[in-house]
Amino acid sequence: MLRIGVIALQGDVSEHVLAMERALQGKGEVQAVRTPGIIPGCDGLVLPGGESTTISKQLASSEMAEELKKAVYAGVPLLATCAGLVLVSREIEGEMRVKPLGLMDTRIGRNAFGPQRESFEADLDVKGFDRPYRAVFIRAPAIVRVGEGVDVLARVGENIVAARQNSIMALAFHPELTDDLRFHDIFLKMLEERAISGG
Ligand code: GLN
Repeated sequence: MLRIGVIALQGDVSEHVLAMERALQGKGEVQAVRTPGIIPGCDGLVLPGGESTTISKQLASSEMAEELKKAVYAGVPLLATCAGLVLVSREIEGEMRVKPLGLMDTRIGRNAFGPQRESFEADLDVKGFDRPYRAVFIRAPAIVRVGEGVDVLARVGENIVAARQNSIMALAFHPELTDDLRFHDIFLKMLEERAISGG
């Protein structure tokens, strides 16, 4: 049985739990993680959207930031969405309040789409998908620079909105808010591959 932990410090946690349960189709269980000690027992992790300044502060003041880093270094797959994508980055443009975890070789623009674009939807051409993916963006950040080890999966104009580096999949939009679970399916495949390789 797979066990997936959704980091539940702030943000749209319940939507992520429900979407992941749908994607799992009974092959595992999903747990909202609010306290230290649970992350080390998870096969996969989700860092949801929300307010990256708030989540950053709460992560730093608990042992969960260290647990999360340790898990990712050990190869545990992590799905980081929206504020989660901000938090896993190496650098954030012009932002001093968020302490990024430095897990992914990316530079983030927190207001890459401009403050006037509060939320929008876009049809994305995603690497490996045979038809467009309708994505929901809410006060979305974007990746404005990637290092060599990062695989870019989708863009909106110049902005990178989906990328993967080793066991991290980072999305600027909200895959938990739509019925299309293709990103969840990739994530679950990452978990299964790790289980098979005994990692
Ligand atoms: N702009 C927000 C932040 O940087 C993220 C928005 C979201 O997660 N929906 O915290």
